[in-house]
Amino acid sequence: MKGTQDGEFINGELNHFGDIKLSPSSGVLNYGQGLFEGLKAYRRKGMGGGIMLFRPEENALRMGMGAQRMCMPSPSVDQFLHAVKLTVLANKRWVPPQGKGSLYVRPLLIGSGPVLGLAPAPEYMFLVYASPVGNYFKEGVAPINLLLADKIHRAIPGGTGGIKAISNYAPVLKAQMHAKSKGFTDVLYLDSVNKKYLEEASSCNIFIVKGNVISTPATNGTILPGITRRSIIELANDLGYQVEERLVSVDELFDADEVFCTGTAVVVAPVGCISYCDQRYTFKTGVETAAQRLYNTLTAIQMGHVQDTKGWTHEIQ
Ligand code: PMP
Repeated sequence: MKGTQDGEFINGELNHFGDIKLSPSSGVLNYGQGLFEGLKAYRRKGMGGGIMLFRPEENALRMGMGAQRMCMPSPSVDQFLHAVKLTVLANKRWVPPQGKGSLYVRPLLIGSGPVLGLAPAPEYMFLVYASPVGNYFKEGVAPINLLLADKIHRAIPGGTGGIKAISNYAPVLKAQMHAKSKGFTDVLYLDSVNKKYLEEASSCNIFIVKGNVISTPATNGTILPGITRRSIIELANDLGYQVEERLVSVDELFDADEVFCTGTAVVVAPVGCISYCDQRYTFKTGVETAAQRLYNTLTAIQMGHVQDTKGWTHEIQ
């Protein structure tokens, strides 16, 4: 789908996955003018079962918000949903059987037109591609380990941490690679001002549990407002937990009973251990945890095992 700076997007067509042509002076290549989204298509039951998307309009709205911050026009919610559905249907045979994974769908909005001086690009491209992915956890839910970053920060107040800008991800590669080389699953970031409040991990949001209270950092512009995060807050309230969105300090983290991450990729991932300045902090994991209850509740809705009373799932034919 192609668009212009004045916000008009013209419906595009389906193409085989392959290279795209870009001007060397395009806005995305020179000034990082780009946004992306990530969602998963699941198969309902058996190979013949319908295909489900989880809250795709939230991805469309988040891309629209991000586009405003990046001085980009964005496709309408309907255009976004149409392109996503078309891509999923064209790749229907790649949606794995239920329980074996999903089709990961990646919408991208980029400044494709040429721009030499610092300014928004004159033309835009909205494209969607898809790839089958396995489950994040091969068997059931397993605890992940996080390295709490003490030097690298993900976002600054007034920056773009609260949107899914492509340029948010390159600065964390170094911390991510370091953590992986030390055997950790992901990095957890602190705020860049006080250096003591939790923000999020590289690609998921964070929650801590103390007794019946579940707390998560408030989305104040430096944290991505995750769609899974929002869903989990609602489900945790439904299950009778007291949920708080606020500043969560690193001291509270170390004192938590449980810690878990949420995101499209990880769904709900319990954190077994966090390392900070060579100290290790361990947390409760397993069947009797809030993380496991929330994982079961959310995946039952996503997979169509229970009736979706919230209207979160979209079946596509
Ligand atoms: N934070 C960051 C930085 C992310 O990249 C993601 C993945 N989109 C998330 C949180 C989780 O968001 P969601 O639940 O919408 O996938």
